[in-house]
Amino acid sequence: MTADHRSGLRGPASTVQEFGDAPTEVRESAHYKHEYVQTFVDKWDELIDWRARYASEGRFFVDQLRTRGVTSVLDVATGTGFHSVRLLEEGFETVVSADGSAEMLAKAFDNGMKFGGHVLRVVQADWRWLNRDVHGEYDAIICLGNSFTHLFSERDRRRALAEFYAMLSHDGVLILDQRNYDAILDNGFSSTHRYYYCGDDVVAEPEYVDDGLARFRYRFPDGSQYHLNMFPLRKDYTRRLMHEVGFQRVDTYGDFQSTYADDEPDFFVHIAEKA
Ligand code: SAM
Repeated sequence: MTADHRSGLRGPASTVQEFGDAPTEVRESAHYKHEYVQTFVDKWDELIDWRARYASEGRFFVDQLRTRGVTSVLDVATGTGFHSVRLLEEGFETVVSADGSAEMLAKAFDNGMKFGGHVLRVVQADWRWLNRDVHGEYDAIICLGNSFTHLFSERDRRRALAEFYAMLSHDGVLILDQRNYDAILDNGFSSTHRYYYCGDDVVAEPEYVDDGLARFRYRFPDGSQYHLNMFPLRKDYTRRLMHEVGFQRVDTYGDFQSTYADDEPDFFVHIAEKA
């Protein structure tokens, strides 16, 4: 994509999040577009400190992909581009960067240029209609940074997973992560913020949690704050859905380890194989 194409992604960007009079009633899969407003996107990389994230993730994802002989990757939740840029740096042949948010993709494109002069191949696409807007077949799909949590109905989750499944080669792999919501629902919130929310001065904390909503508040050093409304996915529920759409094998890691006590990890990473 050229810079001209890129600037075409920039619509009339909103700077204010809209949750209306009853924020905890906002439980819609399409609402993410109103949450990732321009000013929040501009701050996202403060929240997700790239250097700290690079150090804490290490080679986990790269090694998972390499050991499976992956050469083409579709990043369906590109955000500001951390993993797309990382995989390009590692020399993966094809990396396509999709996201439903134009603001996020524009930022990702800029980050690609800034960190290594990579020209990201960005495509605006919602997971629920992925095959309509993204073409081709991929060895791997990654959906990282607790993104799948934005889908609020089981129908949307099944649909998105089926779209991912359809875009994978016959022995392709889906790598999808999620916050450890079981621990939050069952024991309260105790994240050390070690893996994803690494920015030193940013406070990410749940403001409201029930079985159908985890509403998080993100507070920045300049006093600004933003919210995300997310669906609290239970680990075994996500695994079951993956099996039910056809993935043959699903391995789940806790904070990048294969053995863990269920309430310990902050994040789970599911690695779902098609064959
Ligand atoms: N992967 C990035 C990271 O780890 O920093 C971004 C994570 S951010 C929490 C979630 C991303 O998912 C956002 O960029 C958002 O626009 C995207 N997203 C949420 N729901 C989506 C949907 N239905 N279709 C496409 N993208 C979606």
